[in-house]
Amino acid sequence: MSTGPVLNAARPDKERAELLVWIRERLHGEYGDRHLDPRREPMHELISTILSQRTTWRDEDAAYRELRALGDWNAIIAAPTEAVAHAIRRSNYPESKAPRIQETLRRIRDSPGGYDLDFLQDLPVKDALKWLTDLPGVGAKTASLVLLFNYGHPVFPVDTHVHRITTRVGAIPVMGEQAAHRALLKVLPPDPPFLYELHLNLLKHGQQVCSWSGPKCGVCVLRDRCDAYTIFGNNVPSFSETVKAKARTPRAGKPA
Ligand code: SF4
Repeated sequence: MSTGPVLNAARPDKERAELLVWIRERLHGEYGDRHLDPRREPMHELISTILSQRTTWRDEDAAYRELRALGDWNAIIAAPTEAVAHAIRRSNYPESKAPRIQETLRRIRDSPGGYDLDFLQDLPVKDALKWLTDLPGVGAKTASLVLLFNYGHPVFPVDTHVHRITTRVGAIPVMGEQAAHRALLKVLPPDPPFLYELHLNLLKHGQQVCSWSGPKCGVCVLRDRCDAYTIFGNNVPSFSETVKAKARTPRAGKPA
């Protein structure tokens, strides 16, 4: 069966690292500086990021506000799970997120610092990541967002935009988001302001230019070194097609 061209970023780590620095510089020129300032309180960041999974920013915000209208964190734990699910109904999968959020809050309440997460500042990054990802509904992206945005730890949150663009350009081979966290962190500098700016500017670029389907390659500042553009020109396929093509090609993603 013919599979057609497949992205397969077979390049050494040193080249990946240099490519990511180049991406950061290009996006900096396009979108400017980003200063590493916490955008919201750690508990707000944590719970909002759980709500944000598969959800637009507007719906995430609405869901968070309705959730907080139920009362303080203790009141949300004590509320019927159906009431929590109703409050967060604008977030996708409210029925599965509601019990996870309540259990996460329960575990945080019962931890030594209670709802104050500032102990994460002083933990080694590995331990802080483990503490957060042991909570129900908290994956590598959510944990990394809290640790980078709130505590300036050198971690790199990989959301759908970061994953898609770094894959298309060729900074990582085609792989899942969880694996992409490890692959990118391995070659990125341990520099929180750099990581913060790169994350936010990739997010913006994904929203405005390198969309899931029909990316606007003609106006993209990453085009010169983009594997997807080199292979497909102005007809870069939807990212779903890229993921499916990888699944049909067992050797894709391995060094040639
Ligand atoms: S050239 Fe196209 S596929 Fe490559 S990063 Fe830019 S918009 Fe995305």
